[in-house]
Amino acid sequence: MDEERPVELKSNVPPGPIEQKWTSHKFDMKLVNPSNKRKYSVIVVGTGLAGGSAAASLAELGYQVSCFCFQDSPRRAHSIAAQGGINAAKNYQNDGDSVFRLFYDTVKGGDFRAREANVYRLAEVSVNIIDQCVAQGVPFAREYGGLLANRSFGGAQVSRTFYARGQTGQQLLLGAYQALQRQVGLGAIKMFPRHEMQELVVIDGMARGIVARDLETGAVESYVADAVILASGGYGTVFYLATYAKGCNTTAIWRAYKKGAAFANPCYTQIHPTCIPVTGEHQSKLTLMSESLRNDGRIWVSKKKGDTRPPGQIPEDERDYYLERKYPSYGNLSPRDISSRAAKEVCDEGRGVGSTGLGVYLDFAEAINRLGVATIRERYGNLFDMYERITDEDPYKVPMRIYPAMHYCMGGLWVDYHLMSTIPGVFVLGEANFSDHGANRLGASALMQGWPTAISSFPTRLAITSPRTSSTRSAPTTPPSRAHRRGSLTAPRGYWASRGNGPSTISIASSARSCGTTAGWPAMSRV
Ligand SMILES: Cc1cc2nc3c(=O)[nH]c(=O)nc-3n(C[C@H](O)[C@H](O)[C@H](O)COP(=O)(O)OP(=O)(O)OC[C@H]3O[C@@H](n4cnc5c(N)ncnc54)[C@H](O)[C@@H]3O)c2cc1C
Repeated sequence: MDEERPVELKSNVPPGPIEQKWTSHKFDMKLVNPSNKRKYSVIVVGTGLAGGSAAASLAELGYQVSCFCFQDSPRRAHSIAAQGGINAAKNYQNDGDSVFRLFYDTVKGGDFRAREANVYRLAEVSVNIIDQCVAQGVPFAREYGGLLANRSFGGAQVSRTFYARGQTGQQLLLGAYQALQRQVGLGAIKMFPRHEMQELVVIDGMARGIVARDLETGAVESYVADAVILASGGYGTVFYLATYAKGCNTTAIWRAYKKGAAFANPCYTQIHPTCIPVTGEHQSKLTLMSESLRNDGRIWVSKKKGDTRPPGQIPEDERDYYLERKYPSYGNLSPRDISSRAAKEVCDEGRGVGSTGLGVYLDFAEAINRLGVATIRERYGNLFDMYERITDEDPYKVPMRIYPAMHYCMGGLWVDYHLMSTIPGVFVLGEANFSDHGANRLGASALMQGWPTAISSFPTRLAITSPRTSSTRSAPTTPPSRAHRRGSLTAPRGYWASRGNGPSTISIASSARSCGTTAGWPAMSRV
């Protein structure tokens, strides 16, 4: 941190029974008049499900939004990699699901380390999001009669996961991208692709903008706003080989941390049991085989140590379906941490498969016999093709080989109930925050966290928690000098904070012009 100072962690959880907190809090919160919203500017770093949907929602509400990502297009954010599905407590299968059960499963699956009020709200808003996505054209899988289909994910005994084959993240991101681009087209969002945030600008203890590098020209520029949203994703590549792309790093939230934002739970990282094993030193990342495969695939190793027979020559009674044996109620859909640990244990015992001995079988023979190849292809076709391209083995004929790998970061910047970090004005969404998941995230709940919290509940929160609206500082009435605007971001003390004292004074909207949302002031400093 730049300077040592005690950090106060105040969760700001509203009072009242857990199932009423969010509803009554929404009513209690001070709203921003629609005509005042356009006077506020917001910077969103990230265009994944969290950032893209938050930017689109805020712009739709009337705020001036500037959105940054380092990829060449917003729709290349890493959310595109998500395969398996997104949870929602719709209870379409009538199998006993409810908002409370999703809340309970998430808290329990998070090892009781999640903030319960946040998790309840997450479960609550999950039910609206599927309708929203369908309205946006996300092609969720449907049953023969046309109703939306569900499948199960690890750690749950109900079917609440909505999916689009093995491309759920891609399809959801296309939905968010369309909403984002609509606002870009309307001029409500200024998009900055190929820009990397390199610094958070904090003035008088409040976030007031970012410094970003244009990755094409190399220019470093400053951008000012009333609030900064960091939705920069996970940082799993700190472990070198992970299911993340190489670009997923922690620069954005690390910069905020260096400016004093508290970081929470970095030890909670999720190991996913279903990845293609490491094959050599040539790899820059590992490939996930979606957990959804565990709906129909059976995991096993030989009962014998050092068994080098091909899988087809190992008779049924010499196989150890160790998850079904050890955890009969969840079986192959045991939670990810339990399944990962169990796979490592059998490999440590010398019963692993493949040339390295660091692998277990994921076998579809029984499901193909029961359901037929066509059904399996329909459910998992693209995943099977991907596996074959990478390993040159046909998973319709021989079992897949899988092994645990680093997959998801439960840690991140600490946030309160309003998803604001310990730096006023910095909000953190999606995987970048320390999240609602506790220690062991359940499958299909990261997309649930990224999308619904951003669309359904976050804009309301921003409206009432923007530090500008609560500022009580005195209000200098002269804007920063030209030198201030061009040379550095150091404005006269109290100037920026004073913007909250009346939207009709020298408007902070003019600072948004530095992001190019409207014509006006010259570009902010190049530093
Ligand atoms: C292979 C894989 C499969 C998965 N499958 C599932 C699944 O089936 N179900 C599920 O629920 N979850 C799944 N997940 C997890 C889920 O996809 C992620 O947690 C979620 O998509 C993260 O979304 P996000 O919006 O927070 O971040 P991201 O989608 O990673 O977006 C981050 C954004 O931040 C931008 N950014 C980052 N740093 C900077 C910077 N310094 N400057 C400017 N821009 C920056 C990037 O350009 C990008 O636009 C999977 C994850 C992986 C890796």
